[in-house]
Amino acid sequence: MCGIVGYIGKEKKALDVLINGLEHLEYRGYDSSGVAYIYNNKLTIKKETGRIEKLKNTLNFNEKASIGIGHTRWATHGIPNKVNAHPHNYKDITIVHNGIIENYSALKKELQSKGYEFKSDTDTEVAVILLYDLYHQTNDVLKAIKEFKLKAQGAYAIGLICSNEMDTLYAIKKNSPLIIGVGKKANYLASDVPAIVDYTNQYIILNDGDYAKVTQDKIIVYNDKNKEIIPTIKTFEAGSEMVSKNGYDHYMLKEIYEEAEVIKRSAHITKVNLRKYQKIVIVACGSAMHAGLVGKYLIEKYAGIPTEVEIASEFRYKKIFINKKTLVIAISQSGETADTLEAVKIAKKYHSDTLGIINVKESSIAREVKYVIYTEAGREVAVATTKAYLAQVLVLALLAYLNAENKELEVIKTLESDLKELPILIESLLAKTDAYQRIAKKIYHRNDIFYIGRGIDYALCMEASLKLKEISYIHSEAYAAGELKHGTISLVEEGTPIIGIVTDKSIADKTISNLKEVKARGAYVIYIITDELDTEGDFYDDKIVIPTTNPILEPMPTIVPMQLIAYYVAKLNKCDIDKPKNLAKSVTVE
Ligand code: GLU
Repeated sequence: MCGIVGYIGKEKKALDVLINGLEHLEYRGYDSSGVAYIYNNKLTIKKETGRIEKLKNTLNFNEKASIGIGHTRWATHGIPNKVNAHPHNYKDITIVHNGIIENYSALKKELQSKGYEFKSDTDTEVAVILLYDLYHQTNDVLKAIKEFKLKAQGAYAIGLICSNEMDTLYAIKKNSPLIIGVGKKANYLASDVPAIVDYTNQYIILNDGDYAKVTQDKIIVYNDKNKEIIPTIKTFEAGSEMVSKNGYDHYMLKEIYEEAEVIKRSAHITKVNLRKYQKIVIVACGSAMHAGLVGKYLIEKYAGIPTEVEIASEFRYKKIFINKKTLVIAISQSGETADTLEAVKIAKKYHSDTLGIINVKESSIAREVKYVIYTEAGREVAVATTKAYLAQVLVLALLAYLNAENKELEVIKTLESDLKELPILIESLLAKTDAYQRIAKKIYHRNDIFYIGRGIDYALCMEASLKLKEISYIHSEAYAAGELKHGTISLVEEGTPIIGIVTDKSIADKTISNLKEVKARGAYVIYIITDELDTEGDFYDDKIVIPTTNPILEPMPTIVPMQLIAYYVAKLNKCDIDKPKNLAKSVTVE
C-alpha cells in the first residue's frame, strides 16, 4: 500500500533521493512517513505522522549520506503514530516494510521468550528483531534473510540496511511489489516506478521469494531457492510516468477530463474468445468490482455467457465452483491488488484460464494471468479512480460486443460507429459543469445520500455512491430500486437526496415508480435520464440528461456526471480530494 524507496551511491544525497521518491509515491496513500540513513558512520532515523512535508521539516538536507531507506506507511498493525512509523530498527538492522507478517504474533512470543523487548505495535518490528536475531548468529545478512524467509509468513517488501555494511542495501520481496532501479554508480529500491523516474529508466522487477544485495556498482539477485540469478533489466519509456495537474485544481478533476481521450485510446482491444467457456467469474475489489458488475450485465445480455462477480477478498476464502471451462477475469487498476492477485493464483490451481484487465503494465497481476488486456487510461494519480474505471468498463463492453451471440442485432451492427461518437458525447457532458455544481450545492451538507437504479443502472449506482463516500466522507448507499422499500426507505426523510439513474429502457418505468415513492416521502430527487427517455413530471427536483447512445456504451457517459457531482460535493466540503483519509491507491495488503 505504502511506498518504499532506497538509495545507494555517492553522487547524490540520499535524503534528496528518498524524499523525492516518497513524494512520487504519495498517491498510493499513507498516514506517516520516515527515513533512515547513515552519515559520518552514524545511523539517523526520522519519522513523522501525517504528510511528508512534516517529515521534511525535521531533516538536515546538508548531510550528504550515500545510503538510506525511506517509507510511507499505511497502518495495518498499530495506529499511525511516530513509534509505529517506519523505519524500524534493532541494533545493527534497520528496515522499511510494506505488507503484513501474518504470523507476527507467534514470532513475537518466540522472540520475547528470548528476552527481546518491543516498543511498537507493528508486525514490522517483529520482522526487524527476527532479522537481527538471525543476523547476530552469523554476522551474515544474506544468511539471515534466507532464514527469515523460512520463518516469516504473509506479504513483505523489505528494504534493509545493516550498520556494519555501510555500502550495501538489501531487498526482500514476497507478495508485495518491489523493484530495483539500476543507475550509474548508484542503485535504488522502490515499490513502484514513479519513485525513481527522475534518476533512471532501467529497473529490475523482483519476483516472489527473491532477495537482493545491492551496492552502488553491483546488484546480486537470489531467487526463492536461494540461487543467484541473472535478472532481466527492463526499460520504461522516458517521461511516460511523469504527470502534473496541468492547471486543474486536483488530479481527480484532470483525470475525469481525460476520459474522452481515454475512450479514443482504448477503443481497440484484441478479442479474447469468451464463448468457449461455460462460465465467467470476475474477481475484483472496489470500483474494479463495480466495473465487473457492468461487465456482467453486458456479457450475459450480449454474449450469453453466465457471469458471476466475486469480491476478490471473499472469493479467496469460500468454496468455489470453477474448472477448466471457466474463465476468471481479474480487474485491477494497479495490477497489485493483493486479494485479486491471490484470486488469480487460486483460479490457476483450479486450471481455469485467467484474463487480467489491468492498467499498470508489467504489474504483478499482469504477469500472473494467461491473457492480459491493458486499459489505456494512463497513469492515474488521484486515489479515487475515475478514468481507469471507465477504461475497465470500456474493455468489458468491447468484450461483450466482440463475443456477441447475435451479430444481426442493431446494437452490434452500429457499435463501431457509435464508439467513434462516444468521446464527443463525453465531452458534451464534461462541459455541463454548472449543473453538477448546482446539484452539489443542494446536497453537500447532507449526512446520507442514496442512489437507486435497476439492472445495469444499479451497477452504476454502486460506483457513483462509492465515489461520493470515498472523497466527500458522506454516508451513501446504492440500492436496487425495487429493494429500497423492503427496509431502507425508513431512512428517507424531508430533503434526503436520492439520485435515480434511469438509462435502461426496458425497466425505466419501474425505476420511475420507485422515484415517485420516495418523492412522496419527502426525498430530494435527482433524476439521471437519457434524452431518449426524458419525461417531464413532478417526481424530481433536479435532472441531468445523458445523451442516448448504444446501450452497450451507455454506462460510460452516464458515470461521468456522477463522478463530477462527487467531486464538487467533496470540494464544497473542503476534503482532501486526491488523497482521501484512510485510503490507498494500490491496496497491496489483504
Ligand atoms: N504492516 C506494517 C505496519 O502496519 C506495514 C504497513 C504498510 O504496508 O505500510 O506497519
